[in-house]
Amino acid sequence: MSVTFADVEAAAERIRGIAHRTPVLTSRTADARTGATLFFKAEPLQRAGAFKFRGACNAIAALSPEQRQRGVLAFSSGNHAQAIAYAGALQGVPTVIVMPHDAPAIKVAATRGYGAEIVTYDRYKEDREAVSRGIAEARGLSMIPPYDHPDVIAGQGTAVKELIEEVGPLDVLLVCLGGGGLLAGSCLAARALSPEVAIWGVEPEAGNDGQQSLAKGEVVRIPVPVSIADGALTTHLGQHTFPIIQREAAGIVTATDAQLVSAMRFFVERMKLVVEPTGCLAAAAAFEGAVPVQGKRVGVILSGGNVDPAALGRHLAA
Ligand SMILES: *Cc1c(COP(=O)(O)O)cnc(C)c1O
Repeated sequence: MSVTFADVEAAAERIRGIAHRTPVLTSRTADARTGATLFFKAEPLQRAGAFKFRGACNAIAALSPEQRQRGVLAFSSGNHAQAIAYAGALQGVPTVIVMPHDAPAIKVAATRGYGAEIVTYDRYKEDREAVSRGIAEARGLSMIPPYDHPDVIAGQGTAVKELIEEVGPLDVLLVCLGGGGLLAGSCLAARALSPEVAIWGVEPEAGNDGQQSLAKGEVVRIPVPVSIADGALTTHLGQHTFPIIQREAAGIVTATDAQLVSAMRFFVERMKLVVEPTGCLAAAAAFEGAVPVQGKRVGVILSGGNVDPAALGRHLAA
């Protein structure tokens, strides 16, 4: 069964009072630089530091009492793991997180700090879905994937629902893209609340599987990309996310690592906001002119802010 805007509305009700309603920020400097009116939805200020808390909360809240008692399992390069761990802790549900051995230290520590049990795997040699499925089956855990799940997609859509309810209709919406949970949910909310909006996905240049998938008309799989956008190192879109993106998105553009660093610097210097590299994808597309925005009202999703302080320093010093 496909996900609809009604599911996004139901998710908004379920997560009300648990997830934060994050602020929408504006910057005259950014507007002057792009010739647009930009509205930045600040998900670095979401609980657990990224929009993923929305989908995690919604998916856990939708489980049956028995499923909640047994616990949930998530596999993730970081933010989804933290989100599930925190949402589980808040709802009294035990969590097991399967993470790559090279996940950023700050993300591993935060996930453990929320009380999750952590199991690691080698992201270049093992298939995380297969590893996760084995553990979930052996222990009777409910698996909540990071993007390809109707309740996750619906939860992620609540960020754009809030954005458009707050600022009104948009001409353009820019959303970063990994596996497409955020973009698919955003498409559902944006199309319902601002029907004329042009919705663009933005992915790392090194991992443009989404762009290739739209061009080919089917999900294209690529090797694990190498980019500083560690929240978008996915190899393929999902069976739930792709059809929504294919139907609703105007297109998919890319940003380079250097462009992400430049955007990170802008947010720290000018807006006093820490945005992780992946979180800068949508903003980079606006700043670099990858999508025409001049004279338009543009929603820009800043998806998260979980970056090691040391790594942030290295990026900004370079
Ligand atoms: C997961 C994540 C993304 C990508 O989201 P998808 O739903 O996989 O497309 C983007 N930014 C941040 C900060 C993330 O954690």
